[in-house]
Amino acid sequence: MAISETLMNILGITTVAVIFALITAYMFKIEKVKQLRALVDTLKKSLDEMDEQAKLIVRTDMELNKTQEELDKKITGLYALQRLSRSISSSLEESRIFQMISPSHLEDLGFEKACAFLYNDKEQNFMLKLNIGYFEDEIKTIRAFVGSDKLTYLDLIRNEKTISSVSIPHGTLLREKLNDIFKVSEFVISPILPKEGAKGFIFTGTLNPDVTLTEGDEELITIFSNQIGQALENAQLFEQTWRAQQELEKKVEERTHALQMALTEVKIVSRRKSDFISAVAHELRTPLTSIKGYAAILLAGKLGDVPEEIRLRLEKINRHSDELAHLVNDLLDISRIESGKVAMKHEPIDLKKTLEGVLDLLSVQLKEKQIQFSTDIPADAASVLADATQLNRVFINLIGNAMKFTPQEGKISVSSQRSGEQIEIAVTDTGCGIPEEALDAIFEEFYRVDNVINQDVRGTGLGLSLVKRIIEAHNGKIRVKSRLGHGSAFSFTLPAA
Ligand code: ADP
Repeated sequence: MAISETLMNILGITTVAVIFALITAYMFKIEKVKQLRALVDTLKKSLDEMDEQAKLIVRTDMELNKTQEELDKKITGLYALQRLSRSISSSLEESRIFQMISPSHLEDLGFEKACAFLYNDKEQNFMLKLNIGYFEDEIKTIRAFVGSDKLTYLDLIRNEKTISSVSIPHGTLLREKLNDIFKVSEFVISPILPKEGAKGFIFTGTLNPDVTLTEGDEELITIFSNQIGQALENAQLFEQTWRAQQELEKKVEERTHALQMALTEVKIVSRRKSDFISAVAHELRTPLTSIKGYAAILLAGKLGDVPEEIRLRLEKINRHSDELAHLVNDLLDISRIESGKVAMKHEPIDLKKTLEGVLDLLSVQLKEKQIQFSTDIPADAASVLADATQLNRVFINLIGNAMKFTPQEGKISVSSQRSGEQIEIAVTDTGCGIPEEALDAIFEEFYRVDNVINQDVRGTGLGLSLVKRIIEAHNGKIRVKSRLGHGSAFSFTLPAA
């Protein structure tokens, strides 16, 4: 009994244990299943997320592709624009500018049809300047259409705005009409706006059903039309400059011709004058010689005694005849040198020696007026190439004048200096000076400044004229600087020996 009870107890305990074990195992399984389910849920969620991300990646990739395509298109367009811009900006004629725009350029910009019009104020209408891709009858229709709707296009120019199929939706009357007239499905119309001259617009379009224009295309054509405007402006400017230059050249030519005629006339007159002076001087010389000769005979008493009163008159005749002979000689010399009849020698001349000779001649008057005379002839400017006799006359005239117009106890100096192959010689005095307005005139024949000294001192007004001719015959130049009341400086150039 006890055994079976014990067995029963064991069995009972075992059963309970088994049941407990079973329950525990079941519970464990349930827990596992729960965990697995949570795992599956998490996995599913991750999968969904991944799916979402994959979709996003695909979408982004598509968008990137589209952007890339658009970018490629833009770059092609920009290159085309650059090429076009280079060729149109180098054209300096309106017609050439439009001729430069070719179908291939247009194709690179993404269009196959284009036409451009400029407004002609005189005709009060738009003139066709460019036609790409249109047949004769098509362009005729377009021209008529633009002509009949001038105000719209003038408004477009006034508002300086580009319009295109991007901003005009399908189905609108305007879009349908433009598509129909211009035979396109997409288009851009952009104003051409040079600062000066005729303004207008350019139309570009395409009939390609695969093409949908973007704002980028609109921008591209706007830049293109701006460049046409700029090129037209340049052409206008060039034409204006060219015309001005032509006019100027014409005027210069006319003036040159007139001047040449005047110069020829002056030469003829001057020659006639020289001939006349020369002839008159010759005619005067013979009777003058006779007058002087008779006066000398009478003065010498060869025709009988000469009473004092008559002697004085005869001496006057003699003196005046000398002056007249001097004047005649000067006149003759001027006209001969002017006409090139006097050949100037070109011999080396020592300036110091020449000046000593001149001083010998003038020393009496210098002493009388107590004038201080000095020379400054440096060794490198002491010798010139000239005609000795003529150079003597130059010094006698210039120093003689300086003495004439310098008051008592004044100063006169002669200096020379080398300048390359030339020697510049200056005769300076502290005399009365020359008024500025007379500085050019004193070198003309018979001109004498109207001043007190000239009223007292005799003179012919031929000295400086002769000096100028002599210097010029040596290929030199003479000029004068003077300050009224302070003195004058006559300087001239001669070739260095
Ligand atoms: P002339 O001495 O016979 O009058 P010139 O032809 O030598 O003729 O000179 C023309 C004029 O130039 C003179 O009358 C004088 O008015 C002016 N002139 C020339 N040299 C001088 C000088 N050194 N100082 C002031 N005036 C001068």
